[in-house]
Amino acid sequence: MNIYITGLGSGYEVEHLVRLFYPMAPLTLTPPEDGADCVWAEKRPDKLWAMVRQGGKSRTAEAPLPIPVEEGGETPEFALASLTYDLLRSWTGIRPPWGKMTGVRPVRLVHDKRAAGWTEEEIDDFFLKRFDCSPEKYGMAKAIADLQEPILKVGSAPKTYSLYIGIPFCPSRCSYCSFVSCNLDRDRKLVQPYVDCLCREVEAIRDEADKAGLMLCSIYIGGGTPTSLSAAQLRQLMGTVRDCFDLSTIVEYTVEAGRPDCTDAEKLAVIREYGATRISINPQTFSDEVLKNIGRRHSAQDILDCYAEARAAGHDDINMDLIAGLPGDTVEGFEKSLRQAIALDPENITVHTLTLKRASRIVIEDQKENDYADVAAMLEKCHLLAEAGYRPYYLYRQKNTLQNLENVGWCKPGHEGYYNIYIMEEVQTILSAGAGGSTKLVADGGKRMQRIFNFKYPTEYIQRFDEVLERKKGVAVFYDHDLGTETSG
Ligand code: SF4
Repeated sequence: MNIYITGLGSGYEVEHLVRLFYPMAPLTLTPPEDGADCVWAEKRPDKLWAMVRQGGKSRTAEAPLPIPVEEGGETPEFALASLTYDLLRSWTGIRPPWGKMTGVRPVRLVHDKRAAGWTEEEIDDFFLKRFDCSPEKYGMAKAIADLQEPILKVGSAPKTYSLYIGIPFCPSRCSYCSFVSCNLDRDRKLVQPYVDCLCREVEAIRDEADKAGLMLCSIYIGGGTPTSLSAAQLRQLMGTVRDCFDLSTIVEYTVEAGRPDCTDAEKLAVIREYGATRISINPQTFSDEVLKNIGRRHSAQDILDCYAEARAAGHDDINMDLIAGLPGDTVEGFEKSLRQAIALDPENITVHTLTLKRASRIVIEDQKENDYADVAAMLEKCHLLAEAGYRPYYLYRQKNTLQNLENVGWCKPGHEGYYNIYIMEEVQTILSAGAGGSTKLVADGGKRMQRIFNFKYPTEYIQRFDEVLERKKGVAVFYDHDLGTETSG
């Protein structure tokens, strides 16, 4: 099956929707030969036209050119994508759960439409009719938007920001990972100079935030795997954070304890002692076989032990990540993992769908999507979370996610991860420290945004650290301008 799109400036939207039905079909630049299996979408001078041909049979669909967007119509890109989607939905009998919606933040769309004064009925039509979202998925997006509203009010107060600190080291590389993360065995000598720079950058962020009159709202230490640091290095980093900021005024302080193969009782105690209010211990699966498939060097029992140590250290707000669609997993296996996570009774359980990123080993080694079990059926098991008293509180989608599905954070009432909501809904400034860090400056209620990037790799970050500090001065400059615009109006 080939995909052939012609007559449009950009065929991206059509291609994306065709891949909901034929995930691995290649795009061709020349018209398919007579009789060859293909999806053909074409904008002609007088109409839109689409055809699917498979196994010697074919079906076509056509529609008039849309009226211009300014007159209430659609772009030709969306109109052709929509025509092709409808054709493929009827041809295959497949009903994609998110319909024609390609955006990664459906919850944000609900917030935006409400802010723009749309009625609930208009928003319902937008999701259910225009985009053909399933009532279940839309219902979840809407419920999450309702739950987030009061939390977003806190996080979007003017000049509020969150601090992100990145630790790009891991004890081994997971097969699905495309993140820039150094192998601890190979790059251990980089860790101490990295932590030294990181502490200086945290101090610089405090200075810049003070100059700009910003107020810290939440802190997130993520990775990689933050517990790749030794207990002494964690003390150094978290001690710097404690010295720089008044932790009594923030709403949340999360540390990703991540993997049990480098997290121990001492590190868990340090994390607690230095003020973290929330941690993540991420099993991804409780199957030893699947853990081996993804390149983890620990067992499910290690996760259970780590969780018990975290509780013993006094951690009372714990998140656990699971991933649906891991290689070698099954619907039954995923359900078992989910039941095991629920039995542990953490405050948060985040269910991700596997994403096939180009830089990951899974994709490089060319495993086919068909090798993966039915991910949609796995996600349907999440009703178990609802039955156990969890409710969804944040949701996002990524490109190249199996079956175009979503990632959802579930929590017990009152345990919403604030930082997750803030970063996903882009309502506040995030100041980032560390390699690969992306600082996002937000002002004028989200109307003005700017990004400042750190170097991607730890070696560059350490060697060119002066430049990292220099770039951070852009924070105060951005807010100087902000003051100017506020007072000039
Ligand atoms: S722990 Fe996370 S960052 Fe590290 S290799 Fe695995 S997926 Fe990548």
